[in-house]
Amino acid sequence: MSVPLILSGKEVSQFVYETLKDRIAFLNSQNIIPGLAAVLVGDDPASQVYVRSKTKIFNSLSLHTETFRLSSDISDGDLLELIGRLNVDSSFHGILVQLPLPKHINPQHILSSIRPDKDVDGFHPENTGLLSLGEPRYIPCTPKGIMRILDYYDIDLKGKNVVVVGRSNIVGRPISILTSLKMNGANGTTTICHSGTPNIEYYTQSADVIIVALGVPHFLTGSMIKEGAIVVDVGINRIDADTEKGYRLVGDAHWDEIITKVSAATPVPGGVGPMTIAMLVENTVEAAENI
Ligand code: NAP
Repeated sequence: MSVPLILSGKEVSQFVYETLKDRIAFLNSQNIIPGLAAVLVGDDPASQVYVRSKTKIFNSLSLHTETFRLSSDISDGDLLELIGRLNVDSSFHGILVQLPLPKHINPQHILSSIRPDKDVDGFHPENTGLLSLGEPRYIPCTPKGIMRILDYYDIDLKGKNVVVVGRSNIVGRPISILTSLKMNGANGTTTICHSGTPNIEYYTQSADVIIVALGVPHFLTGSMIKEGAIVVDVGINRIDADTEKGYRLVGDAHWDEIITKVSAATPVPGGVGPMTIAMLVENTVEAAENI
């Protein structure tokens, strides 16, 4: 067995930022600074980390971003009113509402209120519909990032047996659509597994490519995959550890077990994670180009 290829999202994201610099410079020459409004409701720690990292990257590329921090007891009406204002604010080309939202707020209702041409997260029904039709406008950032990693490392899904574990609207479902679209780099034969699937290993054991996005630490073990499989690990899970922070991050795959069998895999951290922000930047630049 040859040495497995580590699919570094960190490296691919740096490549994406480099390629975006010319596009941003061109927009700047036309007095356009791509702008993103991030709406953060409540104090979910993972969301705070994501929004902080995003702000750092946007600032480093001299892009415009502002975070609207709202209390967790905000009403639907007040949140909708803010989004209404952002929809018509020309300094923001993209709007992101950080998920999860507090339980009393219907996320679909809120996401549907974002102007589809500013929906850089790609969660508006119009954008999810376009993706399903194979004519994507804004592709959700994490699935788009996964496809970009595969493309960067010349992994073509054509003719491959792809298994996605997880069917959330933000990762599992859109990546199952993307991997099976009739387009370059995709065209895979995709199976989607979820909590209603008995014997998930029956599917994963014959898969050429496995994308795990379920949020269960170490779910995918070595015995669940075949020799030479490619594993894309979306999971970001905190487990207790003897570290300064008291925890460490692990994926949905059991790294020590799968790494002895795979031909390629994304690590956690440093795999899919950095690509999510890179794709958010790219979608925001695209939104600014489309005005
Ligand atoms: P989610 O909304 O909770 O969805 C999880 C999905 O996995 C659901 O479809 C669920 O099935 C399925 N599932 C849960 N437990 C299962 C089990 N034991 N067996 C089979 N299927 C199971 O999660 P998500 O938002 O998609 O996120 C998934 C993971 O990715 C999390 O760790 C999250 O932190 C991470 N994530 C990472 C990034 C990144 O940038 N790297 C971005 C987003 C999310 P049902 O539909 O039947 O409930």
